[in-house]
Amino acid sequence: MARVIPLTDARAAQPNGSVPHPSAAPRVAPTGELADVRGRLLRDLRVSVTDRCNFRCVYCMPKDVFGRDYPFLPHAELLTFEEIARLARVFKAHGVKKIRLTGGEPLLRKNIERLIEMLASIGDLDITLTTNGALLARKARELKAAGLNRVTVSLDALDDGVFRAMNDADFPVAKVLEGIDAAARAGLAPIKINMVVKRGMNEHEILPMARHFRGSGHILRFIEYMDVGHTNGWRMDDVVPSAEVLTTIGREFPLEPVDAAYTGEVAERWRYRDASAGEIGVISSVTQAFCRDCTRARLATDGRLYTCLFATTGYDLRALVRGGSSDEEIGNYIAAIWLQRADRYSEIRSEHTVALPKIEMSYIGG
Ligand code: SAM
Repeated sequence: MARVIPLTDARAAQPNGSVPHPSAAPRVAPTGELADVRGRLLRDLRVSVTDRCNFRCVYCMPKDVFGRDYPFLPHAELLTFEEIARLARVFKAHGVKKIRLTGGEPLLRKNIERLIEMLASIGDLDITLTTNGALLARKARELKAAGLNRVTVSLDALDDGVFRAMNDADFPVAKVLEGIDAAARAGLAPIKINMVVKRGMNEHEILPMARHFRGSGHILRFIEYMDVGHTNGWRMDDVVPSAEVLTTIGREFPLEPVDAAYTGEVAERWRYRDASAGEIGVISSVTQAFCRDCTRARLATDGRLYTCLFATTGYDLRALVRGGSSDEEIGNYIAAIWLQRADRYSEIRSEHTVALPKIEMSYIGG
């Protein structure tokens, strides 16, 4: 029997009162220096190109909710590549410098390399992609040729049994490792490896993962398990704090902190004292929220714009794109949304906020 989750379908949520109607958004010159009410500039855009995934990670798209009957978005509701590229141009004019394609599983979107080509032709954009790696061995070269700069690959364990239990699609570790190797050969470097650490599930994989990727040139990053969406049954007790990850690794391989490469970098960087072994990162979204520096906007699969991973209100850019608005009008609306942005969910997370309606990660883009 499928588990019934009282999902608030916030995909239909209306914008809040302080954002003007798109037709009334005042003109904002695209200076590329758009700051929200907390002084945070718009710099990154994450685009969820599909809400579908070939994995059913237990902490993200649990099978008992995302089963055979799950109503994924019909194709006509997805932004087309032309629409994404057009919006990317408008976002770039307002300051975006980096675009990350995500999902769902972005490599499931047919002809994704065509979208990458279109984004690359805009120029001066750092184009990256987050993937579970399942299709990477097959696609790495085409992605690179299309103009993709780098990839981040999610991998939660090296132990095959643990990994299969977490992806719940019976997918083997070896195939993901092949994908990582193919990406390295194709020059999609530096490759980041994301490991979500969930208490009682894979924390004993922290050291094996560190040993494996140490000295490989790839950057292993440990992500605190977050309360995104409604379906994963998140509890604070399931979070393994980054401090614990660092202590575990530091006992075997001494570490020292590295300065952030840029403002808004989500991962806190640490390097092995043995300099040739490279560095790792920790993403402490729960225990040390980094809302203060968050420069990310998120374009959901159906073209709604969210200004926080935990937002409940999305702004329908697809309606504008399909309704005949000019680039300038769309830019003004994006500016109006960003200028009033005040979210800092992770900083105010509490037992009360956990129960608030939230959007599933696969739709809003991880
Ligand atoms: N399918 C792609 C992948 O697996 O990388 C891209 C989408 S996935 C939603 C993006 C990232 O979000 C992955 O690294 C995944 O592990 C992470 N993620 C998903 N649910 C999470 C949660 N509840 N807490 C922390 N990270 C999560």
